[in-house]
Amino acid sequence: MYDVNSKKPEDFINHEEIINTLAYADENKNNSKLIEALIEKAALRKGLSHREASLLLACEDAEMNQKIFRLAEQIKKDFYGNRIVLFAPLYLSNYCINGCTYCPYHMKNKHIARKKLTQEEIRREVIALQDMGHKRLALEAGEDPVHNTMDYYLDCINTIYSIKHKNGAIRRVNINIAATTVDNYRLLKEAGIGTYILFQETYHKESYLELHPTGPKHDYDYHTTAMDRAMEGGIDDVGVGVLFGLDKYRYEFAGLLMHAEHLEAAFGVGPHTISVPRLRNADDIDADSFTNGIDDDTFAKIVACIRIAVPYTGMIISTRESQKTRERVLHLGISQISGGSKTSVGGYCEPEPEDAKSEQFDVIDNRTLDEVVRWLMEMDYLPSFCTACYREGRTGDRFMSLCKSGQIQNCCHPNALMTLEEYLMDYASEATKAIGDKLIDKEVLNVPNEKARAVVLENLKLIRENNRRDF
Ligand code: SAM
Repeated sequence: MYDVNSKKPEDFINHEEIINTLAYADENKNNSKLIEALIEKAALRKGLSHREASLLLACEDAEMNQKIFRLAEQIKKDFYGNRIVLFAPLYLSNYCINGCTYCPYHMKNKHIARKKLTQEEIRREVIALQDMGHKRLALEAGEDPVHNTMDYYLDCINTIYSIKHKNGAIRRVNINIAATTVDNYRLLKEAGIGTYILFQETYHKESYLELHPTGPKHDYDYHTTAMDRAMEGGIDDVGVGVLFGLDKYRYEFAGLLMHAEHLEAAFGVGPHTISVPRLRNADDIDADSFTNGIDDDTFAKIVACIRIAVPYTGMIISTRESQKTRERVLHLGISQISGGSKTSVGGYCEPEPEDAKSEQFDVIDNRTLDEVVRWLMEMDYLPSFCTACYREGRTGDRFMSLCKSGQIQNCCHPNALMTLEEYLMDYASEATKAIGDKLIDKEVLNVPNEKARAVVLENLKLIRENNRRDF
């Protein structure tokens, strides 16, 4: 039975409830009165339930859909301004004992080159990332209790935080690793991780079991309750997502929002971020052999509907998407993007040899971080390297309540400006710096409070004189 508060996955991701939700959406998708009322409700910026948002997702009326897109854009602007946070993935190890049928790491794949970074190799990778200007990483690894132990991850996190190199230091390490125990989550929290990320892949249990035929990840219930354990272990920033293309997107969308509702009900704080990866070709994986792929228009609609359903949850898009697609969905709700990414183990230092590839999926957006930063600024976005919330304890429900009251912008905008200035001084090309300096001069005027504006101007002056502090 559907119960948002229950600890049992069959209750909070209740299959019948999803089926009923989809039926409700089908029945009402031409009910313009109801849809209009829901759009009005969403405009109050308090979010929508999974049922309500599923109806908007199902709506096929062009005029209503335009309203939905416009509202998503407006909510995005209201909650996040024009800031876009930048990060890069760091692949630690592709050893994996799971049998996931869509992932090149699957155990039976004998032609992918298996690699695990040593601490020294991690130092080199991180320095390469720092030299690009990155401050925020997402660690990635396959699941292998022999090669990829919790001690290994803790060592990696310590190594990364301890590297001081020129002007750079990684200030926030997020981690995307397999579901684990409360005790291990506690250790990750103590090691200072930012967000714990784990994609559900699919909420559809039957499909899940087929797509994960072997290995520990086969256990749907254990995987689906990972975020509950992470929160019990003290991690209050968790990142959820599904891999679009595995099952029917409307089912996944409802499941994703039910998961968010469950975390909010059970722990008082919903997910910190939602990722929207789409299945891609990879070594041994032909994405076209999966029949649930979604087109760009549907993808944009999903992003817009997530934006208005959970306005205060960050949304992430990776280099699995092209520049064109990234541009489209940035306007509709994305708040974090990766740039200059390599999905191979050790790929930031060494190009992949053709005959020994270790990458996880084909990167579609291959631009450098500098190019991504410049592109964002050409569209009037403000690239942000800020990690201050996390370092000052504004995580979990504290972050959420600031965000829900619109307050987060009072600190985010100035911090984005200052961290961007640092980036421009230390890493940017001439062309990027020229655009960035102009943008910063314009954006300083948008700091509403006069006193705060004076502080930002003073800090920008200090940065330009190479007199730094942490933002
Ligand atoms: N081992 C971790 C786990 O058990 O969830 C996850 C790490 S994996 C490096 C990160 C994510 O990559 C997966 O959760 C999956 O959604 C995604 N992924 C796997 N194969 C993919 C493919 N062919 N195309 C796009 N994304 C893929």
